[in-house]
Amino acid sequence: MQDQLQDLWRVAQGTWDSGVLPSENIILRARSTLITTLPNVGSSLEFVKNHLLHDIVPAFNGGSISPNYYGFITGGVTPAALFADNIVSAYDQNVQVHIGNHSIVTDVEYQALGLLTDLFNLERAQWQNGTFTTGATGSNIIGLACGREFVLQKAAERKGSQLSSVGEHGLFEVLQGLGLSGVQVLSTMPHSSLVKAAGVLGIGRANVRNICLADDPLQFDMTQLEKELARTDKVSIVAISCGEVNTGRFATSGMEQLAQIRQLCDRYGAWIHADGAFGIFARVLEDGEEFSMIKKGCDGIELVDSITGDAHKLLNVPYDCGFFLSRHLDLATHVFKNANAAYLSGGATDGPSIPSPLNIGMENSRRFRALPVYANLLRYGRQGYRDIVKRQVHLARAIYEWIFDHPAYIALPEANSKADLVDQTFMVVLFCAKDDALNQNLPAKINETSRMYVSGTSWQGRPATRIAISNWRVDVERDLELVSSVLAQVAQQ
Ligand SMILES: *Cc1c(COP(=O)(O)O)cnc(C)c1O
Repeated sequence: MQDQLQDLWRVAQGTWDSGVLPSENIILRARSTLITTLPNVGSSLEFVKNHLLHDIVPAFNGGSISPNYYGFITGGVTPAALFADNIVSAYDQNVQVHIGNHSIVTDVEYQALGLLTDLFNLERAQWQNGTFTTGATGSNIIGLACGREFVLQKAAERKGSQLSSVGEHGLFEVLQGLGLSGVQVLSTMPHSSLVKAAGVLGIGRANVRNICLADDPLQFDMTQLEKELARTDKVSIVAISCGEVNTGRFATSGMEQLAQIRQLCDRYGAWIHADGAFGIFARVLEDGEEFSMIKKGCDGIELVDSITGDAHKLLNVPYDCGFFLSRHLDLATHVFKNANAAYLSGGATDGPSIPSPLNIGMENSRRFRALPVYANLLRYGRQGYRDIVKRQVHLARAIYEWIFDHPAYIALPEANSKADLVDQTFMVVLFCAKDDALNQNLPAKINETSRMYVSGTSWQGRPATRIAISNWRVDVERDLELVSSVLAQVAQQ
């Protein structure tokens, strides 16, 4: 297996050398080689391998392989994670039922969750319960599902009703029984996947409400928040954008505000979910002046009820891998349990008491996603991740400083001083070109160089461009040189 891994790794390096995007011709060529009807008779393994490696792979993009792919937030794949992920495929363990005497895999998942809570300075006793998911979208669905269960349970307690479980009775009967018109999600600039989760869960996309200050779309309007929580016709989940995808900034400003939100939610029986897909990684940074503003953004997150995190982003394991942490995992069983399926129960085992993944998450059969996470956490440890995230922040800040000083560009959100901008910068850079014509096509012009890749977005009604730095191979000097030379070249066109 080592030989094959070496081959794959060499191919991966080759893709990186050849630019962040494949050329149009290479994609056309690859498309023309695709087998489009089912062969009657199979081909040799050699043929299949060659086809994959030489026809298809060259038309991949550098999303994970290149440190200069700054689109979306993709992360990369470390050698340790790649190795672990190939073991996962080769041994193909199904992590669904905890039978501690039959396989170690559920123990590894449990310990990987524990190591993650250590990385984020969360107390194990409260947070080690959790589960691995396909990504932050999956985690947001579980978070809102648990929240929905919780807030209706609280409402049922207040009204003395027995009918409280959506998992058991369905949303419609529970709401009707409680005389409620719905569940609402109160948030500021939530990620689109959170809105999708509301759609999936029968909460409704229209019931995800923006409760922001008039002059800041990301900060909660605390007066308005309390007013919404106090409504008697609806129950509420508060969803905190712990890292907003356009700006990389945080919706809350520290322990004091989190304590205040916690108090309000306790008073009104609301659940707090934090979407920290990438933002939770700010907790890895060292204390002190340099990162104090961004660390405040995820300070107090330990007071929420559930947390979404992505491992295929800043943890740099391969797709797909996310995690869900919760202080009330028993609630997840109300939603996700396999009822009346005795053959799926684990039975008595030695070792720690570990819930069977199939009763607390969406899938029954699942990939052994935890192994690459476990491998990376061993490989890098707290110091290693601190170093990776620090380099990402340093590069983002250096790019912002360069953009702030450049006559053709505007750094966003617009700031009074460079120092203000830098202090608030995590690992995302948002900017636009002053010239409208250039700004319309800015991401395309940058990506045409194939030296780096950016995503387009919109900011306050105008097109904007994002650079999200999430790869473990980030090198501040080398990458600043590349980014600034590309942006300088594009500005001159
Ligand atoms: C990326 C992201 C998501 C969605 O994550 P997937 O891993 O693509 O499912 C959700 N929330 C935030 C804040 C994100 O950055």
